[in-house]
Amino acid sequence: MNIALIAHDKKKDDIVKIAGAYKLILSKHKLYATGTTGKRIMDETGLDIHRFKSGPLGGDQQIGAYISDNKMDLVIFIRDPLTSQAHEPDISALLRLCDVYEIPLATNMGSAEVLLRGLDAGFYQWRDMTRGTDRDTLHF
Ligand code: PGA
Repeated sequence: MNIALIAHDKKKDDIVKIAGAYKLILSKHKLYATGTTGKRIMDETGLDIHRFKSGPLGGDQQIGAYISDNKMDLVIFIRDPLTSQAHEPDISALLRLCDVYEIPLATNMGSAEVLLRGLDAGFYQWRDMTRGTDRDTLHF
């Protein structure tokens, strides 16, 4: 599975904590992250991560492009709901694409834990249902 990890500045400690706690699970997958989030996680957990640009400089859009190319399977985006973000349009676009392509998305620590535990338990069916399928032909 290809997994994207993103956190707003005030949530970076949280995503590092999650990545550390679930390192064993995450290390079995190909990891991607926005620039600063990826650097923090790599430095503090030793996980190997492909880093895109920083979120405000286009990293969220790069992850969105992967989603629309069917190259991302799960997104963990720990958002800060109490601080306005200069790149809010990019964030909304990324969240929207997760919904367009039925990509599991966690936006807080609680949902991130549930998704990662589900992943570890082998709940891959959502990708079997959507992978390689023309989006327009899907009927749920
Ligand atoms: P960053 O980007 O990891 O480069 O800080 C995250 C974001 O704010 O979208």
